[in-house]
Amino acid sequence: MQHRIVVLGAGYTGAVAAGRLAKRLRREDVAVTLVNAEPDFVERVRMHQLAVGQDLKPRPFSDMFAGTGVELRLAKVTGVDVDRRTVAVTDANGSEELSYDTLVYALGSGWNAQGVPGTAEHAYEIASRAGALRLRERLARLAAGQTVVVVGGGLTGLEAATEIAEARPDLDVALAVRGGLGDWLSPKGRAHLRKVFGKLRITVYEHAAVTGVEADRVAMADGKTIPAAVTVWTTGFVVHPIAKATALKVTGTGQIVVDATMRSVSHPDVYAVGDAAHAMGPGDKPLRMSCASGIPTAWQAADAIAARLTGGKLPDTPLRYFNQCISLGRKEGLIQYVTADDRAVQAVLTGRLAAVYKELVCKGAAWGVANPTLGLPTRRRVTRERAATGPAVEALG
Ligand SMILES: Cc1cc2nc3c(=O)[nH]c(=O)nc-3n(C[C@H](O)[C@H](O)[C@H](O)COP(=O)(O)OP(=O)(O)OC[C@H]3O[C@@H](n4cnc5c(N)ncnc54)[C@H](O)[C@@H]3O)c2cc1C
Repeated sequence: MQHRIVVLGAGYTGAVAAGRLAKRLRREDVAVTLVNAEPDFVERVRMHQLAVGQDLKPRPFSDMFAGTGVELRLAKVTGVDVDRRTVAVTDANGSEELSYDTLVYALGSGWNAQGVPGTAEHAYEIASRAGALRLRERLARLAAGQTVVVVGGGLTGLEAATEIAEARPDLDVALAVRGGLGDWLSPKGRAHLRKVFGKLRITVYEHAAVTGVEADRVAMADGKTIPAAVTVWTTGFVVHPIAKATALKVTGTGQIVVDATMRSVSHPDVYAVGDAAHAMGPGDKPLRMSCASGIPTAWQAADAIAARLTGGKLPDTPLRYFNQCISLGRKEGLIQYVTADDRAVQAVLTGRLAAVYKELVCKGAAWGVANPTLGLPTRRRVTRERAATGPAVEALG
């Protein structure tokens, strides 16, 4: 009998976890199934690029996982029953239940409208490919001089505002920020941001709390309104509701609470990685939703599962941050170096070099999905179950 590992979601973290598990465990002992709604890998970190009309490299999973031993199941996950250890999926042929021995939950997140009136009806989002394509189509129809308001001063808002302003200098682009522009960055980082926003002629509304979105304007807490032919909403991400509907221990926002090995604290046969997981980082702070911290959670989970199945050593690499890589259009960037717990230090990299650095990071993340052990040797070990029932042979590839 093979041990059945089912990985839900083939974004950055699920795809990395599935590939790494396949490299760590023997195919005769373990079956790895990767379930995803769409047939190709979505580079979420490039959704602002897609929105302004750039074309992204197609990355079909059938090519990425060919010969890896990972079985792909293209279907939408509709529910998880952690007591019966089953996953409900639907595809064009109907509904089905998949059984698992170990589950890796990596369904990621979507945009967070935060219940602000009018947002769901009128705002555009770039947390998903469908959202980015919808915005792309809308931006293409905007005439010169029309206004685009990006709401949210986090990394996604900064990247979206600058990308749109660079690609469409004929539009009036504005950014509405709850605090100050880039107020978590170092003084040098903030100064660079202001310089680039100035060059791109982006209007910045600081200390601006948006309280409503209408078809042609956004309303602010101070009673003012800003005209907006298009409003782009980027105020954070929220996880899909599937985990919250299970018996798993989750946070108030629905992230699965995990230990240092990414194992659910309530259900030891379930692991959660990436945006879907509530994992603690350095300084006892929860990791933020990002590839930067999400991909290491996938490594950690895959290595912990392999170790537990084979009797190996559990991974104990502490998760930490190194930098925040922010694209500011295609020609400019900002690399803000940070402490292990994600606080800005003095050092920054700016300008074209930073843009190239960020591009390499994005390329590297996608490359890592297709090459999950990042050049490390393939080590396939015999599971304890198999060692107990058959000849224990350790295969090193
Ligand atoms: C515009 C933008 C820019 C960003 N830039 C950066 C950056 O520079 N650096 C950084 O670190 N992070 C960045 N992020 C955040 C980063 O993209 C996410 O944190 C990361 O994608 C999370 O990875 P994940 O694997 O958890 O989820 P995802 O990448 O969202 O993958 C989830 C997968 O699950 C699938 N799925 C979801 N629901 C279902 C279902 N019901 N059934 C089947 N499949 C399903 C999805 O199709 C997807 O393939 C950015 C995000 C955006 C939107």
